[in-house]
Amino acid sequence: MNNPRNLMVGNWKMNGSLAANASLLADILAGLAQVHCRTALCVPSVYLSQLQTLLAGTAIELGAQDVSAHESGAYTGEVSADMLRDFSVRYCVVGHSERRQFHAESDGVVAIKVQRALAAGITPIVCVGETLAERQAGLTEAVVRRQMAAVIHANGHCISEIVVAYEPVWAIGTGLTATPEQAQQVHAVLRAQLQAATAQAERVSILYGGSMNADNAAQLLAQPDVDGGLVGGAALNAHEFLSMLKAASR
Ligand code: PEP
Repeated sequence: MNNPRNLMVGNWKMNGSLAANASLLADILAGLAQVHCRTALCVPSVYLSQLQTLLAGTAIELGAQDVSAHESGAYTGEVSADMLRDFSVRYCVVGHSERRQFHAESDGVVAIKVQRALAAGITPIVCVGETLAERQAGLTEAVVRRQMAAVIHANGHCISEIVVAYEPVWAIGTGLTATPEQAQQVHAVLRAQLQAATAQAERVSILYGGSMNADNAAQLLAQPDVDGGLVGGAALNAHEFLSMLKAASR
C-alpha cells in the first residue's frame, strides 16, 4: 500500500439478510488476495454481530451506518457509540445525506455524533455534499465548507482522526457521478479547510461517494485528493466491489 490514506468503504444501506450477507461476504473474501487497500463494510446495526464473526481474522474492517447523538438512556431505537464498540466497530458513517434528508439531521447533530464516535474510539466517516439545486446555484463550496466547519468547530484537535466523504447528493444512487475534475475541486477545498484547522490534516482520508462503480473508480481515484471511495449500490455486487478495491490498490 503506497498511500496510507487509501480507504474503500462499502455502505450496504438497508440491504441484506443473514443468508445474503454470508454469501456476498464469502465472494468478496475469495477475491481479496489481490487487494492492497484498507477496506471496510458499513452494515445495518442488526447485522453487526454476524459481520463481527465473519470478518474476524480477515483484512476487512467493520463499520456502522449511524450512531446516536446521545450517550445512553431513554432514546428508543437508538444505538450508542459504546454499543457499536462492543461489536468491534472501527468506522461509522455519520451525516450521510439520507440521514440529513430523511431524518432531519442538522450540521449540529452531525457534529455531536462525530464527538460520540471519537470518544468511543470509532473513526467517523463524515459525509458532506451539496444538492443539485445548491450546485446549480453555485453554492457547492459554501455548503461543504459549512458542513465541515460545524464538525471542525465541535471536535477541535481530534479532527485529524476523522475520515471525510464528499458525496454530492445528486450523485447518490442516481447513476450520475461527479466528473473526476468536479470531485478533485471539492476535495481540494476540503483538504485546505482541514489544513487550516490542524497540522495533522495529511492523516485525513477524503473519500468520494456517489454512483462510484467499476467503470469510473480508477479515474476518480487517480485524482490527487481522492483517497478512496464510499460505495453504495456497487458494494452489493462482489465482482464489481472487488474490481473497485483493485483499482484503489495503488
Ligand atoms: C452512499 O450511499 O454513500 C453512496 C455513495 O451510494 P451509491 O454508491 O449507490 O451512489
